[in-house]
Amino acid sequence: MTAHILIVEDESGIRQLVQDALSEQGFEVTAARNAQVARAAIAEKMPDIAIVDWMLPQTSGLQLIREIRLAEVTQSLPIIMLTARASEDDTIRGLEAGADDYLTKPFSTRELVSRVRAMLRRKQGHSKHTVLQNGDLTLDTASHRVSIADETVDLGQIEYRLLHFMLSNPDRVYSRAQLLDSVWGVNHFVEERTVDVHILRLRKALRKHGVNNIIDTVRGAGYRLTPA
Ligand code: CA
Repeated sequence: MTAHILIVEDESGIRQLVQDALSEQGFEVTAARNAQVARAAIAEKMPDIAIVDWMLPQTSGLQLIREIRLAEVTQSLPIIMLTARASEDDTIRGLEAGADDYLTKPFSTRELVSRVRAMLRRKQGHSKHTVLQNGDLTLDTASHRVSIADETVDLGQIEYRLLHFMLSNPDRVYSRAQLLDSVWGVNHFVEERTVDVHILRLRKALRKHGVNNIIDTVRGAGYRLTPA
């Protein structure tokens, strides 16, 4: 599977340079010019690695990294920080905020590509392969496959993440706001009723395979997945 890299940098020259260098190596690259665009990009498709520039307009790279670390769904997203500041103090601040690695500007694209590759290798080594089950329903995190009695269930990204989250925490009631934080992560621009829409889609997809009533609506509270 092609690795997906997100680059967050407001300087178009550097953004383009990074995008070109990584695309040339066969990576799928999403470019964001600020934190807001980055949040939306993450919500739409979770990258394998984020490259975040320290100096960004409005929300700084440092703040964005903290946000990414706080949200459950993105907390283990590997981050490479770009910085024009070579001082040890700043580097430490960046790493403390949650960056896994950093590159000081100016950097060579070869160096960047090799850091990205090293990080992907580490990620593959670490990624724990989990199979979550609830009755006939199985979710395999390695293949991203959801199946019911061996039939594949077609799910969108968000529905998959919702189900993954709820299967990991069964029999607990989650409010819409909690689901937004955990499943949508850093994108705070989504309205709470969006959760209802995706729960509906998830239920519909499961129902096609004969699984009903696995996700309960708890009136005035939110949603709960019932263990089989
Ligand atoms: Ca910048």
